[in-house]
Order: sequence, then C-alpha cells, then structure tokens
Amino acid sequence: MLPKTMRAARLHAYGEPLRLDEVPLPRPEAGQVLIRVKGAGFCHSDLHVISGDIPVLPRMPLTLGHENAGVVAAAGAGVVSVKEGDVVAVYGAWGDGICDYCVSGEENLCMAGQWVGLSNHDGGYAEFLLVPHERYLVKLHRLDPETAAPLTDAALTPYRAIKRSLPLISPDYPVLVIGAGGLGQFGIKLLRLLCGSEIIAADLADDKLATARELGAHHTVNTRGEGALEQIRTIAGGGVAAAFDFVGADPTLALAFGATRRLGTVVQLGLAGGTANLAALQSWQPEVTFWVSFWGNIKELREVMDLADDGRLTSIPLEFEPLERVNEVYHRLEQGQVKGRAVLTP
Ligand code: NAD
Ligand code: ZN
Repeated sequence: MLPKTMRAARLHAYGEPLRLDEVPLPRPEAGQVLIRVKGAGFCHSDLHVISGDIPVLPRMPLTLGHENAGVVAAAGAGVVSVKEGDVVAVYGAWGDGICDYCVSGEENLCMAGQWVGLSNHDGGYAEFLLVPHERYLVKLHRLDPETAAPLTDAALTPYRAIKRSLPLISPDYPVLVIGAGGLGQFGIKLLRLLCGSEIIAADLADDKLATARELGAHHTVNTRGEGALEQIRTIAGGGVAAAFDFVGADPTLALAFGATRRLGTVVQLGLAGGTANLAALQSWQPEVTFWVSFWGNIKELREVMDLADDGRLTSIPLEFEPLERVNEVYHRLEQGQVKGRAVLTP
C-alpha cells in the first residue's frame, strides 16, 4: 500500500533554504511511472537555481532534484518495459517528444523541455517521483540506485561533451579539465576510459586536485593566483586538444581558450555566468571550436549506465545524506566541502 502523502524538499522563494513539506503522493496515470526515490544527487546547478542566479523555475514551491534513481513503486496503465520493484535510473531532460530535436534523439535540446526538478515537474528531493514516460527509465542490473543517481547528470553531462569532442582529441595531445568537482571528476574518469590523452586537471582547491590525481589525472594545476596558464602551456607544449570548463566563469573560460591548440575545442559545461571572450587572433587560436554542452540524451545515458553497471566506469567519491539534511548539503557544496558528489537518500 502506498502512503497518501510524502515528504519533499521544496524551494518556496529564491535565496531561501528548502523546506521539508508534506505533500500529496502523485498517482501515475496511463503511461506514467511512480518511482520510490533511493538516491538524488545534489548538483551545483541547484546552487545556481536556489540562489536565484539562474531563475528558471516556472512555479514555486517546487521540489528540486534532477539526478535521480530508485525503485518502481507503481506503473500506470499501458507501461510495458518496467514493473513494480525494478531498479531504475531516471533520465531527466524531458522534452515535448515531437519537435525535430526530440525525434532525432536529442531530447535534451528540446526548446519546450520540461526538465525534472527544474520546470513544472517536481524533482527527486522527495520520497517519490512521478516520471511521465517509461522511455525515461534505464533499468539497472547490478548498480544500486544510490550510486547510480549521480550518473544521470554528473556523469552523463561530461560523457556527451567528451564523446562529441573525440574526433578532435588524439593521444599525442593532452586534454584539460577545469573544475574537478562532481562533473569534472566523472569527466576525468571518462577521459581515462574513452581516450588515450594525458589529462591536466585545474582547480582552485588543492583537495580537489588531490582527488583528481586519485581518479586518474596525470597533471594538476592550481588556478589560484598567477601562472596557471603558463604551467598548463609548459605541460602541454603546443596546447591541449580539448579544454572542458566545468566552472564557466570569466577566468576559467579565458584559461580554456588560452590553453587550447589550433584545431582544438573548448567546451563549456559550467554555468557560473562567465562570458566567452572570442576576439579572433587575440583571445583564441584560429580553428578552435567553442560550444556549450547541454546535459545528454537518452541513448547517451544508456551508454553511461552500461559502462557503470558492469564496472567499467566506477564512481567518484559519494557522500550519502538523509533528505532532512538537504540544506546542510547545500552549504557544504557551496563551501567546496563535498569531496565528490553528495547524494540524498529519501
Ligand atoms: P561542484 O561544486 O561539484 O564542482 C565545482 C568545482 O569547480 C569545484 O571543485 C571548485 O573548487 C571548482 N572551481 C570553482 N571555481 C573555480 C575557478 N574559478 N577555477 C577553478 N576551479 C574552480 O559542481 P558540479 O556539480 O560539478 O557542477 C559544475 C558546473 O556544471 C556548475 O556550474 C553546474 O551548474 C554545471 N552543470 C552544467 C550542466 C550542463 O548541462 N552543461 C549539467 C550539470 C551541471
Ligand atoms: Zn545538474
């Protein structure tokens, strides 16, 4: 028997702590699936949203949480691919399903996207999560849902960026990861898995750089103070083939462009509000491509889950916290005190 209500951590106003509210349990209608949330990764994007720096929410109060995994609690009529008790990871970039982006499989690029926990759809910082379609579920065979949750964003996002950059990467040139937090750490692991290049990790925190080395970075550079670009250039010789900026601030974008060789690529993933300064022949080299990578698609999530479910992609350091500690998690992430990823376990 399912309860009538559940606990959910909801944002009522930008800049305020989340509140633990008792809310009605959503009921799955035809085609929908209700998930009992076992893991909900706490992403830095939620810091940007809660603070109001990225004020994307169409309504409040709203339950946040877009990195989710759990167990199927109930399936609506017509659902065929999952049943009660299945362990699943939840794809969260929900599109309209009918536009050109969606029908070509790039649902994460849908202009009418309703991302879980960032739109009208409540997210996974709650005991249960309503998923509008079974295509958003990836069944897990060996992975536990608490470990799987961060893969749906913290691993999926760098996976897409790296996979799409592979034609420009070759083992004789290094690659650069700026920001070795949750996404950057999975980025390092995925680069180790997918390409033969040496990896330079840059961060302003020495403990994050130590973690980066443990996870496979060959070189680390502290960006605090002067000289980071010179250090990277010295390590990289003629420049890196690809720079992945998991921070996205003015200085990190400048560092990425300054470090990248001709024919290379700069990929912005972090959303810290920086502006790319693209003055030809001044701030960047000719024939360097620049793009902002945006989460990932369902096929890419299946690939990530496949890598993780059989142990080829192992986890970054995870910290598990009960739902009622959501605001402590917020502060610890804001202060840079989360080693890898914090996961709420409602
Ligand atoms: P995190 O807090 O776990 O990690 C951020 C890391 O960046 C930390 O190690 C921090 O020390 C480092 N850092 C901060 N400022 C820096 C600077 N100026 N120079 C060097 N290092 C610096 O964050 P996360 O959850 O990994 O998210 C990273 C970013 O990615 C956030 O901006 C988030 O919103 C964004 N994001 C984007 C997408 C997308 O689809 N593009 C998806 C998820 C998250
Ligand atoms: Zn995220």
